[in-house]
Amino acid sequence: MPASLKEIKESYDVIIIGSGLGGLTTANRLAYCGHKVLLLEHHHRLGGLATWFKRRGHIFDVSLHGFPFGMIKTCRKYWNKEIMESIVQLPNIVFKNPQFSLTTTFNKVDFTKLLESDFGIKTETIERFFTSVSSMNFFDDQSMTTKELFEEFFPGRSDVHRLLMEPITYANGSTMDDPAITYGIVFSNFMNKGVFTFSGGTDKLIGMMEKELIKNGVTICTNAKVDKIVIEDGKVCGVVVADKKITSTAVVSNSGITNTIFNLTDKKHFSDEFFTKAKEVRVNNSSCQVYMGIKKGETIEDVGDLLFTSTAPEFDSEELLDLHTRSKTFSIYYPKTRPGLERYTIVASMNSRYSDWDNLSADEYEKQKQELISRSIKDLEMYLPGVSAKIDWAEAATPKTFNTYTLHTRGTSFGTKFEGLDVSRSIHKEIGGLFHVGSVGIIMSGWLGAINYGVIVSNDVDCYLRA
Ligand SMILES: Cc1cc2nc3c(=O)[nH]c(=O)nc-3n(C[C@H](O)[C@H](O)[C@H](O)COP(=O)(O)OP(=O)(O)OC[C@H]3O[C@@H](n4cnc5c(N)ncnc54)[C@H](O)[C@@H]3O)c2cc1C
Repeated sequence: MPASLKEIKESYDVIIIGSGLGGLTTANRLAYCGHKVLLLEHHHRLGGLATWFKRRGHIFDVSLHGFPFGMIKTCRKYWNKEIMESIVQLPNIVFKNPQFSLTTTFNKVDFTKLLESDFGIKTETIERFFTSVSSMNFFDDQSMTTKELFEEFFPGRSDVHRLLMEPITYANGSTMDDPAITYGIVFSNFMNKGVFTFSGGTDKLIGMMEKELIKNGVTICTNAKVDKIVIEDGKVCGVVVADKKITSTAVVSNSGITNTIFNLTDKKHFSDEFFTKAKEVRVNNSSCQVYMGIKKGETIEDVGDLLFTSTAPEFDSEELLDLHTRSKTFSIYYPKTRPGLERYTIVASMNSRYSDWDNLSADEYEKQKQELISRSIKDLEMYLPGVSAKIDWAEAATPKTFNTYTLHTRGTSFGTKFEGLDVSRSIHKEIGGLFHVGSVGIIMSGWLGAINYGVIVSNDVDCYLRA
């Protein structure tokens, strides 16, 4: 059970602000290493964007649409065997758009076959492409864009570009103009073995993580919004939460990097050079989602696990972000993905701009949400005819929803663009004992990226505390 603010002690070795997957992992690793850890979360439940909600007997997952095979090893090593054992593959990934319709297991073997048979690409070109993307790493030349990478291997082939890019845009918000490395790392992770999910849903995973945190001795406090990180003589010495100061030797912020620098600390603590660099960090786009629940007792046909759909003639990052986009991903949750709960739910996901929703009047905002729901159900009918009569709950989330629940700047779903990574990694050099963990730089976002980043940051903090 999370503690209340009244029960927590006055001092800890390290305070973690925020319980996204990055914050949870950092807390768990540091407690496992023997440090006294306090985890403070503003929301009433843990998980950050890895969250769920219940309506009329349905449980809707917000960000459990798919992650790479690498989660298995990461969860086994840094969480526990039970968590690892619930990870299962989503075997049927479907693409439907005016350029092609296909079903794939979304791995290298299947993609090679498809690129040869359906797209007529030479085996030698495909192999060179895979070798090139899988060897990309952080220290490479970062000036090449994803568009340039695609043009080098598949010039003028907008259909191939769409196959390669569309799922990654949904997975990390990146565009053709972002550095190719942000594409290469994530695409190669998926191509390893395909797309995976957590059987039993996000609620089960976060419940298991909470149990592990408690076992390792983390003090957890929800409904606890940190207002300030306290800094004295160039070093952190605690945080202020609900007008109460709690001291610590180190603070790890899992709040967005922009929040951490501009809201939780003060300009005066940073060098001009660092602050200028931080101001130039661009946050990534946000999302809209429509959650649809199927009436108890009704069933739907198995039409695939993840459907990348679009009626737009070609892939276009701007079109994907448009308020009236014709492109959506449908995640279909069958009872087999949530054993024990004999219910079907469907989530339509779209990338989205905060500015399109922020300036609407209350009436217009509600109207746009209803239209989004209607468009999503209408589109879903194309793949599941008759489904609208079976839906007994439909609800929409917008960039404002994501901002409300996570406090992220402009409701960003995937942290920041590439330049945010360097700022996140170097904040501890500006202020002793202050670390950041969480979605940055595109490559450190997503479930796997956030957990792996949590491991990296916990090592940094452990070294700092031991020194
Ligand atoms: C719609 C959507 C779909 C997605 N789908 C997928 C997917 O299919 N696969 C995938 O791998 N990834 C997906 N993602 C991305 C993935 O969910 C995130 O990258 C990851 O969960 C982020 O983890 P994080 O550690 O950065 O923290 P976050 O989840 O961003 O959490 C940060 C936490 O900090 C808390 N916080 C902030 N400020 C304070 C404060 N001042 N005091 C206390 N607490 C504070 C917030 O409340 C929040 O709980 C999706 C994201 C979205 C939005």
